[in-house]
Amino acid sequence: AKSRGSGLHSLFDTSLRARVLDEAVLTLGLRGAVDRGEFDVYYQPIVNAHTREVVDREALLRWTYQGQTVPPDIFIPLAERSDIIAEIGEFVLQRSLSDAACWRASEPNVGVAVNISARQLRGDTLVHQVELLLSTHRFPPQALTIELTETAVLDTLSEAAEQLQRLADLGVNIAMDDFGTGLSSLTRLRTLPITTVKIDKSFVADLGTSQPVESMVAAIIALSEALGLGTVAEGVQTIRQAAILERLGCGRLQGYLYGRPKPGVDLLPTFQAPAL
Ligand code: C2E
Ligand code: CA
Ligand code: CA
Ligand code: CA
Repeated sequence: AKSRGSGLHSLFDTSLRARVLDEAVLTLGLRGAVDRGEFDVYYQPIVNAHTREVVDREALLRWTYQGQTVPPDIFIPLAERSDIIAEIGEFVLQRSLSDAACWRASEPNVGVAVNISARQLRGDTLVHQVELLLSTHRFPPQALTIELTETAVLDTLSEAAEQLQRLADLGVNIAMDDFGTGLSSLTRLRTLPITTVKIDKSFVADLGTSQPVESMVAAIIALSEALGLGTVAEGVQTIRQAAILERLGCGRLQGYLYGRPKPGVDLLPTFQAPAL
């Protein structure tokens, strides 16, 4: 199971019994949350490691439930355990493609990366949604990256792998998220239509203080290069980490050093009041 992370609101930091209740309450709260407008999509820049130019923005979902911000690490797993993830996933895809189409009017080289859940690879709904949105916004498929975790596609012969191949055939990029934290995945890098490897932030956090971790990151980058895949390091917070990653040949960097996730409205050109 994934760690719950630290620094969450104390509401989530209670006894197991209370947590089970919270989960039931939150799952109820998730129903209809899209229609009530409780979700917002934030965007975090991903920069070229050499030029530091923004190449993509990752869409990160935010939920405000009864005045509280519930972290996605809490509500995404709940949504995945019910059918609510389908509705949420469609909302995120629609919103992020329309926001990206807006910013591309002034930043034509900046793409968007969207996280998807394993459940969204069941059936061909996602492929149809992506196809429709690409054509509605005249959005070039190469400017869209679908991010998925290693566990989303367990078996390369599965239906999920087939849906992934259909997405790749449309021309969209596919990123393997949180690389190195899941099940052994080297085979999957070769047999699935992956274009990008995202080095998990738990590795990046230890760069500069742990030589073994640096060796692992170097190996992941070398492996990705050998397979012709791009690399993104996430969770870059210090100049030192960035310098090491650049030296190791990592292609792109993402983290608080370059920008925190921000709401879509903050990305639009600011309105200049005319001088009187
Ligand atoms: P992720 O896809 O690995 O996203 C990266 C997470 O790292 C984000 O957390 C981001 O805010 C955080 N982060 C970025 N830079 C830094 C940094 O420099 N330091 C640290 N410590 N953290 C950094 P966030 O937004 O809380 O999202 C958590 C997870 O929730 C995501 O992990 C992703 O797995 C999931 N998620 C978020 N939005 C969506 C969505 O729309 N759909 C799906 N299926 N999952 C989502
Ligand atoms: Ca991600
Ligand atoms: Ca990640
Ligand atoms: Ca993660």
